Amino acid sequence: MTGPSPGGVGSGFLPGADRTVTPAAADIALPVAGRKLLTHPDAGFPRVADLPADTAWVPVGTLDGVPAWAVEVADAEALPGRWRSWRGIAAELPEPLATLAGRALAVVTWRRTHRWCGACRAELADVPGETARRCPDCELYVPMQLSAAVLVAITRPGRAGGPDELLLVRHAYGPTGLWALVAGFVEAGESLEAAAHREVSEEVGLAIDRPTYFGSQPWAMSGPGTLLAGFTATAADPHAEPVVDAKELTQARWFPLDALPAELPPTYSISRWLIDAVAARARS
Ligand SMILES: [Zn+2]
Repeated sequence: MTGPSPGGVGSGFLPGADRTVTPAAADIALPVAGRKLLTHPDAGFPRVADLPADTAWVPVGTLDGVPAWAVEVADAEALPGRWRSWRGIAAELPEPLATLAGRALAVVTWRRTHRWCGACRAELADVPGETARRCPDCELYVPMQLSAAVLVAITRPGRAGGPDELLLVRHAYGPTGLWALVAGFVEAGESLEAAAHREVSEEVGLAIDRPTYFGSQPWAMSGPGTLLAGFTATAADPHAEPVVDAKELTQARWFPLDALPAELPPTYSISRWLIDAVAARARS
């Protein structure tokens, strides 16, 4: 995958929660154990017929019109095959399969962690046709919620007529060796653009001009439903240097766009699509 998914109605994967149809033998099966999914050496994922007949399937959508079903498996050992993380799937399988895997992981994780009513403690019931549950006693509606996060590719004009420069940071947690983009979760009551301004200010102490929307990506690595929104922006003061927030970052540095470091985010991530797009813009 080299860029944002084109999306659009009818293309590749469509999320869904249709419980009016019964799983068929040739439908796509997505067994989930913890944070791993069972894959198939040829077809990407197994088929419904590959699992026991009494499996409690949960609908997650369709892939090119074929229904896909997920199930939480308590014991991965009981189902032989190759269990893989979303990271491994996203890195090696074609895009619609990675998105489908991320959706299955999100739905199964959400169902496991949203079983009881948070207001009255009754057991929640599935809402037909939706990825949502409702309390039979107090009517509390519990949809699967998304966490939005923003990433910002900040550039400034090059020194002495050289190519523009991109700000890259190294994080104190996670893959600490990677040079990544400033990023953070959107707070309730905040727009995506306001979150971009705030995260840049908090993490590297810089002000940016109005951020420009680039694209988005559902991200299955963190939390049950994270949606990443990417932006480009230019530094408000071309001479300002970053001041890192040591709680989150270890380094922040301007790199000329023709001399980016080798340790960049993986090619299946919107971080990388943003970096590649900004670098391509500098070359044209
Ligand atoms: Zn309730």
